[in-house]
Amino acid sequence: MVSNADPGKTYQLIDNEFLSPKLLKRLQRTTYSVASLNMFLVIDGDLRQMGLDSGNVWYAAHSNLNEVYRQLLEDDPLATDEFPGMFISSPSLKDPTSYDGRYHSLETVTFIPYSRFSAFEKSITGQRPEAYNQLKKQLAEKVLRTLEGRIPGIRDAIVKWELGTPLTNSYYVEGTLGNCYGTEKVLGQMGPFAFQAKTQVGGLYLCGSSTLSHGVMGATNSGINTAAQILGVRRPLDLLTNDPSQELRVYPAEHPESWPEWVVKKAAVKSRRVREGGSVRK
Ligand SMILES: Cc1cc2nc3c(=O)[nH]c(=O)nc-3n(C[C@H](O)[C@H](O)[C@H](O)COP(=O)(O)OP(=O)(O)OC[C@H]3O[C@@H](n4cnc5c(N)ncnc54)[C@H](O)[C@@H]3O)c2cc1C
Repeated sequence: MVSNADPGKTYQLIDNEFLSPKLLKRLQRTTYSVASLNMFLVIDGDLRQMGLDSGNVWYAAHSNLNEVYRQLLEDDPLATDEFPGMFISSPSLKDPTSYDGRYHSLETVTFIPYSRFSAFEKSITGQRPEAYNQLKKQLAEKVLRTLEGRIPGIRDAIVKWELGTPLTNSYYVEGTLGNCYGTEKVLGQMGPFAFQAKTQVGGLYLCGSSTLSHGVMGATNSGINTAAQILGVRRPLDLLTNDPSQELRVYPAEHPESWPEWVVKKAAVKSRRVREGGSVRK
């Protein structure tokens, strides 16, 4: 059995009597990576004209990035008007087949400590208390102000927004304390000190961002690494055989002249649907 859930969640599924005192102590000591506030927006406007392209924007208010992280994670988020750091990205600028010719999708991510939301962790999504909604509203306003500072005029083009909190991360992917990148990447929890694929529970293996490495590539590689251990393959990359029936092509979003016919057609069908009456409700 392979668990892709983080170690905190995985070992919650096993009675403590089956886990060694050493492992239980380690689980108690384990710290988790940052949690985040994620805003998802629908924009009725030309994001390219507003200065965005298919790349990601990593905004930092100043060049001392350690200080940016410190401010995000330690300062009271309600005490200032703008966040000192923010990730901004538009999926519909990256993938023309997801653009309907009118409405762009946009997302922002900024870090926030889980502790800001822990008072509400026992409540159920959809039935959170009013205080949670109020906090979300205040933080959403701060996200919007930060975004407006980077992309002037964007507010007038917003058709809809939704804000995800660390509790949203916990609810949808069961990440311990709403973490984004598995266990905290500090020296004592990385490389040989990270949770390994093979566990002390017979037949149970781990993969994912708390093991080999985090992020999309890290988590993907951890899956290959775990599969290799289970299959007894010495070099994990030997599992990646060339299969000519599988093709992955990457086309540059900024160069429509290089897109194949099917991409152009798919994008055109989507645009036509909106022109013929599709809309997004506020
Ligand atoms: C907002 C945000 C933006 C990010 N942006 C980037 C980026 O641009 N580039 C990048 O490289 N990385 C990014 N990351 C990090 C990246 O998404 C993670 O490192 C990666 O997805 C971790 O993969 P994983 O498989 O370890 O965990 P997850 O993708 O979290 O998967 C864990 C899975 O376990 C399941 N699970 C949990 N408990 C149970 C259970 N009891 N039973 C069954 N299933 C269970 C969950 O449902 C989930 O599907 C971002 C993360 C966040 C939150």
